[in-house]
Amino acid sequence: MDQAPLVRARNVHKAFHHVEVLKGIDLDVKAGEVVVILGPSGSGKSTFLRCINRLETIDKGSIFVDGEQIGYQLRNGKLQPLSNRAIATQRSKIGMVFQQFNLYPHMTVLQNVIEAPIGVHGRSRDEAITEARELLAKVGMSHKVNAYPRQLSGGQQQRVAIARALAIRPTLMLFDEPTSALDPELVGEVLTTMRSLADQGLTMIVVTHEIGFAREAADRVVFMDGGRVVEEGSPEAVLENPRHPRTRSFLSRFI
Ligand code: ADP
Ligand code: MG
Repeated sequence: MDQAPLVRARNVHKAFHHVEVLKGIDLDVKAGEVVVILGPSGSGKSTFLRCINRLETIDKGSIFVDGEQIGYQLRNGKLQPLSNRAIATQRSKIGMVFQQFNLYPHMTVLQNVIEAPIGVHGRSRDEAITEARELLAKVGMSHKVNAYPRQLSGGQQQRVAIARALAIRPTLMLFDEPTSALDPELVGEVLTTMRSLADQGLTMIVVTHEIGFAREAADRVVFMDGGRVVEEGSPEAVLENPRHPRTRSFLSRFI
């Protein structure tokens, strides 16, 4: 039997001030899959990611993550909105890494990483510290556990942000242009870190303009334009042989 997808988005619509920016997105992501979303600026990529972890509400359609409908529960056969507390619990299973690293400036690297596991997940301090050290080793930041964010390069800060997102033991990781704010020479170290997470079987949805990463790390590439999924398929299919003229014209900028 086929395993149910970890993420199942169906007919997701979202408008801001009566302007529809998501016009019926369907997407399935299997456990362990790495899906890269490409698309021009304004096509709705960030909004879609934000809907997945309920930073935005959706107007129509549904999103399921790990069998639970985001924002809703079935009670006595009726679909009911979740309480804020229950939404926070759902969100706490989804890690998100943004373009801006958003580390707490007054906390050390280690404090940044242990904050959510202790504060939100109620883990013991010792356990959180042990795990944080492992995660910081994984992202190559063991040598900076006691540094403050301002003492780190952008690439180092983003790697700490990745460790912080992993510290909640997410079932799904969302990356929204994680390298777009970095100086070009720092992009590689962050992509290498993400690549190794992908190789370890983490389920990831990655919005990026790094075509090389899409080619090498993605199981599937999704091209969005105008609030719709225009084309999706294997990296070879979408990147080397795009079927849709809009995908072709978008990709032609990167050659
Ligand atoms: P992308 O990430 O693909 O560049 P976004 O999802 O950020 O696209 O934005 C899609 C469209 O939605 C854009 O036109 C943007 O201006 C609009 N938008 C995004 N967030 C908001 C918001 N909070 N309020 C109003 N408009 C928004
Ligand atoms: Mg965006």
